[in-house]
Amino acid sequence: MKLSEFAGYGDKMEQLMRSVQAGRIVHALLFAGPHGSGKRTVARLFAQAMVCSGAEKPCGVCPACKRFLAGSHPDVKLLRPEKKSIGVDEVRDLIDALALRPYEGGKHIVLIEQADRMTPSAQNALLKTLESPAGETMFFLITDAPGGLLPTILSRCQTVRFGDLSVEDCAAVLVRRGLPPERAAMLAGAAQGSVGRALEIDRDEEWFALREKVLRSIEGLDRPAGVAAAAVPLEDMKGSEGDILDIMELWARDLMAVQSGCAPYQAGEAQRLSRCRVEGRALLRGVVQVRRQLESNVAWANALENMYFKLTQAGNGGRTVLSWQR
Ligand SMILES: [Zn+2]
Repeated sequence: MKLSEFAGYGDKMEQLMRSVQAGRIVHALLFAGPHGSGKRTVARLFAQAMVCSGAEKPCGVCPACKRFLAGSHPDVKLLRPEKKSIGVDEVRDLIDALALRPYEGGKHIVLIEQADRMTPSAQNALLKTLESPAGETMFFLITDAPGGLLPTILSRCQTVRFGDLSVEDCAAVLVRRGLPPERAAMLAGAAQGSVGRALEIDRDEEWFALREKVLRSIEGLDRPAGVAAAAVPLEDMKGSEGDILDIMELWARDLMAVQSGCAPYQAGEAQRLSRCRVEGRALLRGVVQVRRQLESNVAWANALENMYFKLTQAGNGGRTVLSWQR
């Protein structure tokens, strides 16, 4: 993958890269953003681009890129918590290594993952090096909790903020990683734009089993057996409420799309969506309300049955689509 292909961040990174090459940049970058937002991937690509000797950086095929990818580039140091934290001794070892000249004549590249896990004394030890770089060193600090870093560290870094991507951009990233477009769209929607979360779901067979259970439960509302029978399979799934509601929300949004003549995110499910008689807007409103009820400690089973009951009550009166009753 190339920096320019990282949808949503390509432009930002190319701009940064130009600044680095023109020598206009501070020597420490902080990549901060939520879990799964792509900050680690982009930081690694950026670091790789800095050692790359190819034309379009990072090329992935030059000797420097190959060494980088194998984790054996002599000028690239990686620090991450092996246990709970990164201690002061590890930082001192790093600083000693930086006192040597870079092997390949360029810069030392230091990547610190989960940088907030550095103990305060480790951060203080690093501070001096951040202030007065011994020779040519470029630091990449990566964190999803920048609040865990000392203000003195933060003030010496240029921060690059990562948020979740739009669902479309997230799906585009997944397709570039080799996922079929339909699956990518479904995963991106389910993960609400977080590439990391989408990849987790992709490997999680239990999630797909849960999704099927949820969809069958919603479809069960069409049948005469009604609310209780539809709700029962989900009622004893305490601990999965969040995932269940996320799956329902995605289904509701796609129902709304199909019911207003638009294409659903989950393109492969168009038929199943059009067979479903639950009104998307009503289901979405129900999901929002259940989330609120759970926050005020309403029992999951009660909240769920209550939502299902309201969804089915408006089914009479000649309407073909189940909808929400206030
Ligand atoms: Zn290269």
